[in-house]
Amino acid sequence: MEKIHCTAIVLAAGSGKRMGTKVHKQYLELAGKPVLYYSLSAFERAECIDEIILVTGAKEEEYCKREIVEKYQLQKVTNIITGGKERYHSVFSGLSQITESDYTFIHDGARPFLTVEMIARAFEEVKRSKACIMGMPVKDTVKIADAQGYVEHTPPRNRVWMVQTPQVFATQLIKEAYTQLMECENLLITDDAMVVEQMLHYPVKFVEGSYRNIKITTPEDLLIAKAFLEEK
Ligand code: C5P
Repeated sequence: MEKIHCTAIVLAAGSGKRMGTKVHKQYLELAGKPVLYYSLSAFERAECIDEIILVTGAKEEEYCKREIVEKYQLQKVTNIITGGKERYHSVFSGLSQITESDYTFIHDGARPFLTVEMIARAFEEVKRSKACIMGMPVKDTVKIADAQGYVEHTPPRNRVWMVQTPQVFATQLIKEAYTQLMECENLLITDDAMVVEQMLHYPVKFVEGSYRNIKITTPEDLLIAKAFLEEK
């Protein structure tokens, strides 16, 4: 049987304004290595992954090549490209690089606690459903606010998930969804599943991720991440 070809797009562009540091959040150090290194390393070690496309900020390609890809001998990284203004522009740039691939994993480089087991779990699910996203059931009650800041409604907690990455899709499906998206205007897109939901109305399945699969966004997240690493 022919090997199933899988591509990972790892996103590391964007300004990271919420972190309040000069260094972008994906390059801040955790236990002596850049945040971005950790998820790249998980994809490098995952058996199902064949190639990694790294999407960086403008003028950061050389730094990533030298200080991360070459330094840690990440041999599956085939392309290092510049991202765009919004996350979905960066994803579209990444998708444009793919020539032949069965499944595509899209991952935030700012989530360093991705594991090989999580990648394998998502791979098993995407082979069944063609579109799946990692997430975890929420621990807190979630409420939807109206424009005036009043509670509009309270969804039942057992049906509410926090969404993480990787988000994994049949490559043709996600390429088609993004191609359609790029023809639209006034977009408010915060993850990849939204693109598949809105453009193709295709069902997207949840896969259990981990409560540790946090995104390093604000300084508190860095403290939590350090605690996770120290425990190891
Ligand atoms: O900004 P946000 O926290 O949503 O970013 C999620 C991920 O998307 C991060 O890993 C960030 O580097 C990436 N991103 C990107 N291009 C952008 C904005 C964000 O690659 N224009």
